[in-house]
This record gives sequence, C-alpha cells and structure tokens, in this order.
Amino acid sequence: MGDEYTPNPNLKIWMDGKLVPVDQANVSVFSHGLLYGDGVFEGIRVYHGRIFECKAHMHRFMLSMKAIRMEIPFTQQQIVDAMHETMKANKTTDGYIRLVAARGVGALGIHPFRCGPPIVFIICSTIQMYDPEMYEKGMKVITASTTRNHPNAMSPRIKSLNYLNNILAKIEAIDAGCLEAVMLNHEGYVAECTGDNLFIVTRGRLQTPGPHCGILEGITRRLVMKLAERRGIPVDQTILTRQDLYFADEMFITGTGAEICPVVDIDKRMIADGKPGPITRQLIADFRAYAKSGEELL
Ligand code: PMP
Repeated sequence: MGDEYTPNPNLKIWMDGKLVPVDQANVSVFSHGLLYGDGVFEGIRVYHGRIFECKAHMHRFMLSMKAIRMEIPFTQQQIVDAMHETMKANKTTDGYIRLVAARGVGALGIHPFRCGPPIVFIICSTIQMYDPEMYEKGMKVITASTTRNHPNAMSPRIKSLNYLNNILAKIEAIDAGCLEAVMLNHEGYVAECTGDNLFIVTRGRLQTPGPHCGILEGITRRLVMKLAERRGIPVDQTILTRQDLYFADEMFITGTGAEICPVVDIDKRMIADGKPGPITRQLIADFRAYAKSGEELL
C-alpha cells in the first residue's frame, strides 16, 4: 500500500543527550511511548536557519508534559541547544524538527511511574508539504464522521503521541479523495482538522473555534490571529457549526507543516466562488514575510 518511506541514511538523530546515526536511533519494544502512545511531541519549522517560534513551541511542550505527569532530565535550554546541535549536524537551514518525549521502558501494563527514564529524541529533517498548487487554487476537505476526542477524555490541548483519533478522520479524508478533514467536537460544533486548525472569514471577520471547542491550540493559529490583528482584521474565537463553514466567504487551515492553506470546497459545497479569498491571500503573504523576517511575535 502506497510508497514506502526510507529515511536518509546520513541523518543524525539526537537521542537522550547525544547525536547518533539514524540506524542507531532505536527504541525498545518495551517503551511505553510505543506500547501505549504515552508521550508528547512538537513539530517545529526551521526557516533561514532559525527555529520558528521556539519559545511558543517549548512552552506547549512543557505544558503537554505537565498534563501527562512526565518529567525529563533536560532543561528547556538544554533542549533548545540540542535542537540547534541537531540542525547543525544535519546542515539544516530550512526544514522540520520533531521533538519527542516518550515514556520509558516498563513492564507490560500501563503504570507510567514504574518506567525507566523518558526517551527524548530530536529528528531534524524535511517535511512533506502540500503541493504548491494547493496554495494557489485551494484544497477540498470533508467533514469527518469521527468526533474529535472529548476534552475530558483525552484533551486535544495535549500534543500527545496518540494520534489515532486524528488518523481515523484522516482515513475518511483519504477515502473521499481529500487531504484534510474537518472534525466536529462532542457537541457537534466545529473543532479543527486532523493536523491543522481551521479559520473562516465571514463579512470581513476572521473566525476560528476557541480553545474550549476541543482543539490543539496551534502555534500557527495564534500567529495568524496576531497577523490579522496587525492588519486591523477583527478575530473571533467562537463556536462554529458546519453550516457556518458552508456559508463562509473564505476558509483556510493553519499548521506548522501546512502554514496557511486555502480551502475552497467542503463536503462538495463550494466556498464563495471557489477561489482562495483576498484575506486568505493577504495572510499567506504576511506569513511568508514574517517567516523570512526572523521576528518573534508569540
Ligand atoms: N491541530 C492538530 C490536531 C495538529 O496536530 C496540529 C499540528 N500539526 C495543529 C492543529 C496545528 O498546530 P501548529 O500550528 O502548532 O502546528
């Protein structure tokens, strides 16, 4: 099924304090990160040799760890230094960093506090982006029938290693010939997409589901809200229904990998005239200029 992925054999991975060749960067089958998805991660971009919104990503990483009661034997500064070391070892000036903290090796059984030290690793690699054409023409999405995790069961605010909820919705998207799906929360309101946040534009206002709609508070989402405010575009963090999406003037998704990507069709309802809208285009241009500038707004 599909194309198999082979990592670049020259990659250097930072693992528990040192850089190792990719074929030596292995984890035990008894790691609870693997056995139970017990762990957290961050996906971070590198633009022009700089770690994009480093502070915000580190903050979310620490909060995710706090949520699952995980403590790692490294300070935030040591992790940031390790990311720079990994970038340097791989000669990365533009790319993607995956920072992972997985619960360590333990007996079969979910007890998290009888495990060995957490396994912390950093991959510095490239990222598979959406086709550049999608940024010009916009993408099609569907609404998935899979409900986003109930915040009291597994809060989407935790960036955990367990992505099955999102993966089930992603399968629906792929089956429908799309690359993303909108997920509704347990109350039937719009939450987010499988790996991206969602915005609409209605009568000149930017609208996006609030943190309590059951979303991951994306770094790109936060940045887009700031960039919009700078342009004097009002932003509402609100409750949205699927109908609000169908009737929107513009729609786009945001994420570390996707950046800002226009959406022009949802559930076979064309958004406005089926072309990326002017506010979306403006924000894409602003985002690209911002990533180049090295400024840190968050
Ligand atoms: N929601 C989910 C479920 C995600 O996995 C992601 C990250 N890929 C996002 C939203 C976007 O977050 P960020 O902008 O921080 O990448």
